[in-house]
Amino acid sequence: MTAPPPNTASTAATIWTPEGEKRHLWAAMKRGFFGRCPKCGKGKLFRAFLKTADNCSECGLDFSPHRADDLPAYLVIVVVGHIVIPLALLIEKGFSPPLVVQWAIYLPTTLVLALWLIQPIKGGVVGLQWALRMHGFDENFVEDQI
Ligand SMILES: [Zn+2]
Repeated sequence: MTAPPPNTASTAATIWTPEGEKRHLWAAMKRGFFGRCPKCGKGKLFRAFLKTADNCSECGLDFSPHRADDLPAYLVIVVVGHIVIPLALLIEKGFSPPLVVQWAIYLPTTLVLALWLIQPIKGGVVGLQWALRMHGFDENFVEDQI
């Protein structure tokens, strides 16, 4: 298979077609989940809580093309919601404690889980984008020309 012409917009086929190095989706997502470079698994992905480093200190991979945007927050809401809501239902059905006690359980639980999960999930999303050659992680990426 040949590379698309340089001025052609990427299509789904070119994004999913492995060209050049082979990228393993789950390995990249796992490395990102643990805060490591999705390519080599050695360098740190984050330089601050949710700020990605400019590039990998080990292999030099440029992290700036990632576009995680709001996806990690949406995923955290889904995951935490699937933990806290059943917990709330079980506690309500089993014990029916006063509302103040329920708030004292659910609000800190939600906050701690969200803060605990947001960085690993963002790392997983960056790993996913790298493995799928999304955005600037594609060697043949061409900026949209409007
Ligand atoms: Zn690396």
